[in-house]
Amino acid sequence: MAAIEMSHIVKRYGDGFPAVNDVSLDIADGEFMILVGPSGCGKSTLLRMIVGLEDITSGDMVIGGKRVNDKAPRERNLSMVFQNYALYPHLTVYENIAFPLRLAKAPDAEVKAKVEQSASILELHEHLQRKPANLSGGQRQRVAMGRAIVREADAFLFDEPLSNLDAKLRGQMRAEIARLQRRLGITTVYVTHDQTEAMTLGDRVCVLKKGVIQQVASPRELYEQP
Ligand code: ADP
Ligand code: ADP
Repeated sequence: MAAIEMSHIVKRYGDGFPAVNDVSLDIADGEFMILVGPSGCGKSTLLRMIVGLEDITSGDMVIGGKRVNDKAPRERNLSMVFQNYALYPHLTVYENIAFPLRLAKAPDAEVKAKVEQSASILELHEHLQRKPANLSGGQRQRVAMGRAIVREADAFLFDEPLSNLDAKLRGQMRAEIARLQRRLGITTVYVTHDQTEAMTLGDRVCVLKKGVIQQVASPRELYEQP
């Protein structure tokens, strides 16, 4: 059974041309899937429909074997990392990472253990009492990832998570995300318009154009194409 199954997904904003047009795509358990394509091709819209931040006009979204079309984000057990990180400026690194556990009303001892474990995986333990404003771009990115991994989500969703970093840091964080995904073995959907990210990070790449899937292939298959 696929972790995420999309069949004939359509998204129409207003009465214009569909932003996502009849997309059918299965993402396997533990797979790292890249959604790539030019600006405006519908990548973010598709990702937001998976996480539940955008209504689906028609089609079926099935996650973990359950149809989730009408389920709110909090009912889907997914972790999303946003482009701007969406950290809470008034909260410490510790509380930013703890946030999903606080929402779930986890006991303090469990929060502490899990936050410390996430912080240790992401090498953030020295920064737990700092506020986001006092962190570098790479550290903020790590806090956003810490918040994503702190609870056992069914999948990670990334929306251009590296676009606010400089080239050097981007390369470093790219390697970190790849390592983290392999270590946790968690189903991942990653949106990017960056060819290097698309060709180096994923098990498979889904190429979108004007809301339609052009191709789904491994980086190797794409690379070997004439
Ligand atoms: P991408 O992530 O590939 O850049 P998007 O999913 O953001 O593409 O956008 C796909 C299309 O849908 C674009 O034509 C965009 O202008 C349109 N669109 C995105 N969000 C909205 C919205 N909230 N209202 C109306 N149109 C939107
Ligand atoms: P509400 O039910 O109050 O509308 P939501 O559950 O839609 O709240 O989302 C609340 C906030 O959490 C929003 O700012 C949204 O961007 C963010 N959010 C929603 N789903 C996720 C997720 N899976 N991971 C991380 N942040 C999320």
